[in-house]
Amino acid sequence: MTDFSIHNLPFGIFSTAGTSPRAGIAFEDKIVDLPALAALGFFEGILSDASTLAQPVLNDFIRLGKKTTGALRLRVQELLRAGEMPESAWVAQATAQMHLPVAIGDYTDFYSSIEHATNVGKMFRDPDNALLPNWRHLPVGYHGRASSIVVSGTPVKRPFGQVKPKDSELPVYQASARLDFELEMAFIIGKDSEMGQQISTAEAEDYIFGMVLFNDWSARDIQNWEYVPLGPFLGKNFASSISPWIVTMEALEPFRVAGPEQQPAVLPYLQYEGLKNYDIRLEVSLQPEGAAESVICRSNFRYMYWNMCQQLAHHTVNGCNVRVGDMMASGTISGHEPDSYGSMLELSWSGTKPIALEGGDTRTFIQNNDTIIMRGYAEKGEVQLGFGAVSGKVVPA
Ligand code: MN
Repeated sequence: MTDFSIHNLPFGIFSTAGTSPRAGIAFEDKIVDLPALAALGFFEGILSDASTLAQPVLNDFIRLGKKTTGALRLRVQELLRAGEMPESAWVAQATAQMHLPVAIGDYTDFYSSIEHATNVGKMFRDPDNALLPNWRHLPVGYHGRASSIVVSGTPVKRPFGQVKPKDSELPVYQASARLDFELEMAFIIGKDSEMGQQISTAEAEDYIFGMVLFNDWSARDIQNWEYVPLGPFLGKNFASSISPWIVTMEALEPFRVAGPEQQPAVLPYLQYEGLKNYDIRLEVSLQPEGAAESVICRSNFRYMYWNMCQQLAHHTVNGCNVRVGDMMASGTISGHEPDSYGSMLELSWSGTKPIALEGGDTRTFIQNNDTIIMRGYAEKGEVQLGFGAVSGKVVPA
């Protein structure tokens, strides 16, 4: 079984000891070097100018549009099916270094899992009235920080900040003692919109190029003190990690499923038709230094209350423009069962229920030198694909 089956063929940016960052497509344990394939003339009739493939980010390639990027991906699929991939286009993934696949202009984080929003509302606010009055009427979100989004494998330094101890009136300055992950997925904008333009739910898919796994690292003690009244700030913006391969929406087509029923009915601009959720199994492992991985969460992207088309329609309903390479993250993806909660805040219920690891160790929040690994996988009949992984090791402040 491989994440990178012939049905997947995701795009990424890689380099090797002898080559600069460039575009590739993952297949099994290899990478198809796209500039190399272009130089041999295999994209004639698809790309008039292959220079976009030799750049260190995919933005200009993505900007060519889905007709072009889709045709190129299908051409690679044909070559693989026919066994005609030239030897000189192969690179072993083991010898390649992966980079951020796009220059991320703006990053938005939503809050679209009803289970997550309910759990956090119970812990941070009111156990009997967990969801705020707006939650079922609009996809709540905030503008995050693009500068600190890093590719899988990049270590994450434990952040310092202000926290307020429970038994004190005054805050103290210290390294976060409640460092957490958030299991999320993110979509990447594939087409610019104009300022003043609204993208409807029906048009939204035209603007979505593909998806990655997303770990929204979160310092709960910093977050809890700072977030009133303007929301997440330094508890969130020190780092977010993404998986390096962008799985295209074309590849995800077979995995469409219906979303949950939305009650009360949403305003007309948020209504949609068709299957807009995706059945993608997700899991999170925690690996202490020198020890085995323990799976501590199993969730699914299909649980999202608000889908990507609604998120994008809402994001642009006021005329806010989006640009190629912008990243929109889902918000923590929690399911109904306690082992499907997508953060340690929820899994350990704010530190009150230690999470058991293989070998007898436990955790409430992330300790130094722990590695967090997220994986995503979709399967329907013969068609299988995965997202690879997003991993990050927490290092001391
Ligand atoms: Mn988040």
